[in-house]
Amino acid sequence: MVVGILKEIKAEENRVAMTPAGVEVLCHHGHTVLVEAGAGAGSGFMDEAYVAAGATLIATPAEIYGRADMVMHVKEPQPSEYPLIRKGQVVFTYLHLAADEELTRALMDTGAVCIAYETIQKADGTLPLLTPMSEVAGRMAIQQGAKYLEMAQGGHGVLLGGVPGVDPGTVVVIGGGVVGTNAAKMACGLGAKVYILDMNLDRLRYLSDIMPANCFPLMSSPSLLRKLVREADVVVGAVLITGAKAPRLVTRDMLKTMKRGAVLVDVAIDQGGCFETSHPTTHGSPIFVVDGVVHYCVANMPGAVAKTSTLALTNATLPYAVALADKGWRRAMSESHEMALGANVVDGKITYAGVAEAFGLPL
Ligand code: NAD
Repeated sequence: MVVGILKEIKAEENRVAMTPAGVEVLCHHGHTVLVEAGAGAGSGFMDEAYVAAGATLIATPAEIYGRADMVMHVKEPQPSEYPLIRKGQVVFTYLHLAADEELTRALMDTGAVCIAYETIQKADGTLPLLTPMSEVAGRMAIQQGAKYLEMAQGGHGVLLGGVPGVDPGTVVVIGGGVVGTNAAKMACGLGAKVYILDMNLDRLRYLSDIMPANCFPLMSSPSLLRKLVREADVVVGAVLITGAKAPRLVTRDMLKTMKRGAVLVDVAIDQGGCFETSHPTTHGSPIFVVDGVVHYCVANMPGAVAKTSTLALTNATLPYAVALADKGWRRAMSESHEMALGANVVDGKITYAGVAEAFGLPL
């Protein structure tokens, strides 16, 4: 199969769909890999590394779309690419179609086989191609929280780990899933006092088994949250209710009771955010201040650490890309239900229930 790796063209996106190491694996499986020149530069992977791995460099996306049986991206195709996508071509990338009717209809018009990273789902319900980005965002949340606690950044000058003789900072993580657990681990590692809140008792039991002694897994409730945000130096929003907007758990009234110069990191901003005062920000202008509390609400946090994110993404996507290339999409999907769940639009028809429901279109 001919596999094409495209350069990302969406603003602030430095990741690339495949590392040179991933390209080498595809080449070893007998596939031809075309890489758009400069595709890996934002993640620190130079063209020469792709050539050494066996890829052919291609100057334009038009040529890649014209020659490849399967194209891989990180973000969804942009409008300039719609006319380039060919009927029957496999498009394998994050799509998030339920939030974008224009893109959905454009992909239906192409007749391509559009497979979304985010809907590939294992039998236990986990989403293997979303998990690595949640791991990155959770870990980064504490790095950002610690940074914006510094006085020059607008924070109130607390070192999360404290020092001998001085109390550490207090971190409250709302949501104990992948993002929340990774955030709590980082905060614990720095020596902060960490509360992690969830509504799922089994999850809390698991967290209390695995987390260190400076982490306190607690049942989430409005009254507990009201109490904890008053003490917090950093609050991380990491809740997810599948298929729904994030609940607004920290209200404006609660915000008024927080310490001036405390920091809110709303990782759930891509689902609307879980603080009443949140709105999406960008890496170029990541924070704003409300009632003296610093808000960090970047919707694509992994893009800031593109090298780590690209490596983590390729680790997760490569086995699926190899299966698609080795077997073709029909056989790969007939042999693997988790892979079949990735199909969102095939030959002009929507094949994923959540997308069809979002726009009242037939499956
Ligand atoms: P997850 O499903 O692994 O975890 C979510 C957790 O929230 C679950 O354990 C659930 O029980 C808990 N929860 C639900 N309602 C709650 C409530 N009212 N109080 C406390 N806990 C509650 O999801 P995840 O992978 O950790 O993702 C969390 C959020 O982060 C999602 O919105 C995801 O889209 C987002 N995310 C954002 C970025 C970014 O760059 N901003 C990157 C990755 C993920």
